[in-house]
Amino acid sequence: MSIQRPKGTQDLLPGYIEKWQYLEEVIRKVCFEYGYEEIRTPVFESTELFKRGVGETTDIVNKEMYTFLDKGERSMTLRPEGTASVCRAYVENKLYGTQQPVKLYYVGPMFRYERPQTGRFRQFHQFGAEVLGADKPVVDAEVITLVWDLYQRLGLTGLEVHINSVGCPSCRPLHRESLQSFLDQRRTDLCRDCQDRFDRNPMRILDCKNPSCQTLTHGAPTTLDHLCEDCASHFTQLQELLEAAGVAYKVNSRLVRGLDYYRRTAFEVLVEEIGAQSAICGGGRYDGLVEEIGGPSTPGIGFAMGMERVLAAIEVQKKFPELKPAQFAMVIALGDKAQQRGFSILSELRKSGVPASIDLVGRSLKAQLKAADRVNAHYALILGQDELDRGRVVIRNLRLGEQSEVPVSEIVSVISDKYREGARV
Ligand code: ATP
Ligand code: MG
Repeated sequence: MSIQRPKGTQDLLPGYIEKWQYLEEVIRKVCFEYGYEEIRTPVFESTELFKRGVGETTDIVNKEMYTFLDKGERSMTLRPEGTASVCRAYVENKLYGTQQPVKLYYVGPMFRYERPQTGRFRQFHQFGAEVLGADKPVVDAEVITLVWDLYQRLGLTGLEVHINSVGCPSCRPLHRESLQSFLDQRRTDLCRDCQDRFDRNPMRILDCKNPSCQTLTHGAPTTLDHLCEDCASHFTQLQELLEAAGVAYKVNSRLVRGLDYYRRTAFEVLVEEIGAQSAICGGGRYDGLVEEIGGPSTPGIGFAMGMERVLAAIEVQKKFPELKPAQFAMVIALGDKAQQRGFSILSELRKSGVPASIDLVGRSLKAQLKAADRVNAHYALILGQDELDRGRVVIRNLRLGEQSEVPVSEIVSVISDKYREGARV
């Protein structure tokens, strides 16, 4: 039996990979313009990092991690997300000693043992950004604006940006208390997960996707009802800044991140058309995280977006631009002698930076022209025995179906000129 790829993984093949490259290009351009620099961290880390950095009470750590012992009996985990690794790298490389804040972004595969379905994979890809070492509302606004701006450039519409504030260690306990007393009589009607959350992490109950928990928490006190003065002013300023930047947002008091090190801002971006898995980006402020993994107390905020879901949104909204043809010229040489001459023309073309190819399997003229069509080439350079004898090459414009002849000695400069002019026809 042939071997198949693991469940929940994908082969990204030519024909579709261009869309990934396009998305990555736009991401890198936006990050560059916003002054964010790329960081690449290992694909696996000590399991302990995610236990502490993502949190032992989360679904990710409890149910979704790819954890294994290496040959030295160390527990390792394929990264399920990027923030913990970025914070570890910030501490390990003493980036806190450089000019603050540090603005970083990453693009890469993440691994979660989940039930695969549309928009949900076991190996998927995230683009994320983190700002470490700054705690002002303008930082939160910049990060959310970056996300918004990226989606605008991709041409996406119908997005919902939800924001909330989950408070801080001084105001959150008050919310916790009033939420627990609100839910106390309804406790046994909550789903099993939420019954667990009641003592451990009641705030997460507000975020439960189970419809009956949603009904039970209708009218429950939210973190916004209990924000201390500093948190309230941070949240107000954030909203003013988002308005100043033209970001259309909604306050959603049910959007929560439950761990102790989450502070204040939480946000999420949703897009309807891609089905049940409609969250394309999630983020928030995590001022306690760097300390949690052993670094100096450092404020931080970031987000991660699921690239498969963003691509799906671009696809359904038909917003992919026409992607560039792969090859500009195909050298069609017929016969051994012509192949030699053609191969030398091809190397000259490649040296001058023109994307060009030659037949590698000995096809007929007709089949080679077909192949040229398939790679969307602009020109076919046809060289047979007859042309060779006359020292000429036929140039066929495959878009217009016209052809002419040029001397072999001029072919490279003629074609590279056309390429540089960006010949569209
Ligand atoms: P969800 O509620 O969809 O499980 P999450 O809360 O686990 O999302 P985060 O950990 O915040 O998601 O990750 C950020 C983004 O990464 C999500 O908004 C989503 O776009 C994407 N994402 C998360 N898990 C997957 C997955 N298994 N497959 C594809 N994309 C994913
Ligand atoms: Mg999840």
